[in-house]
Amino acid sequence: MSVTVRVPAKVNVQLAVGAARPDGFHALANVFLAVSLFDEVTATPAATLTVTCEGPDADRVPLDRTNLAARAAELLAERAGIEPAVHLHIAKSIPVAGGMAGGSADGAAALLACDALWGLNTPRAELLDICAVLGSDVPFSLVGGAALGTGRGELLTPVEAGAFHWVFAVADGGLSTPAVFHEFDRLTAGTAVPEPEASPALLAALASGDPDALAATLANDLQPAALSLRPALADTLAAGTGAGALAALVSGSGPTTAFLVRDEEAAAKVAAALEASGTCRATRVASGPAPGATVLPA
Ligand code: ATP
Repeated sequence: MSVTVRVPAKVNVQLAVGAARPDGFHALANVFLAVSLFDEVTATPAATLTVTCEGPDADRVPLDRTNLAARAAELLAERAGIEPAVHLHIAKSIPVAGGMAGGSADGAAALLACDALWGLNTPRAELLDICAVLGSDVPFSLVGGAALGTGRGELLTPVEAGAFHWVFAVADGGLSTPAVFHEFDRLTAGTAVPEPEASPALLAALASGDPDALAATLANDLQPAALSLRPALADTLAAGTGAGALAALVSGSGPTTAFLVRDEEAAAKVAAALEASGTCRATRVASGPAPGATVLPA
């Protein structure tokens, strides 16, 4: 018997970053949108905890206990007082270290898969608590849809969202999220960083489903830091807007870039232009909001 969970990637339509707190974390106002790029995690009974991964980026995914899927299984087993006797197989489609919460997604998926496999029926609130221990983006991977995250991003309030079409440009290599925050601190040193707040205009645009309104309000405070570490991303952003994207931004901490487009036809055109531009490794077309981690029928 095995259990497979499908889990979405995310794009931050707004990422407002406050000054570093004494504990090193930054206060965030983070508007998450889950998009239809999915990983699948399959949990199967095994003698000990093991992880395997397939997909174009599989060689960049750790297979030891640092994998967030493995950590999720360990945490859940510990709480239940059982051994994490499970094999986790990750079918990976979400870009690795791309700012789309791929590792977080696998953590949430493994948690749900093991909960079902072990018949634990852990209450939703408790699963969300475990997610928050695993990482700031993990609770949203479980919930999906669209949500405002505050605190370190882990305190979630669902928000309304119409349907939007996106193209994602996958860059060569990854960017470390801590390194991007460090660069943010360097770039903002000596300036007054305002308290992060969700933009009412952005939330209204998201609810309306109007892509022009959303294009006018997309904002990522980490973008200057990601561009500072990876100046070539500016060429990718320009190639997408030049091909007709309504707006372009770095996804989370990058280096994946996100392009908001009017419809599927525009998505295909922008994706083709990005591929031809030579400014990215690959493109992916997706839409959002997508549902959160879901157990697939056996
Ligand atoms: P975020 O958007 O949440 O900042 P990200 O999408 O930029 O995350 P991930 O794909 O989650 O980045 O990977 C970041 C690092 O986490 C990887 O370089 C890898 O070493 C580690 N990692 C741990 N578990 C996983 C996993 N299941 N899949 C991918 N990377 C993982």
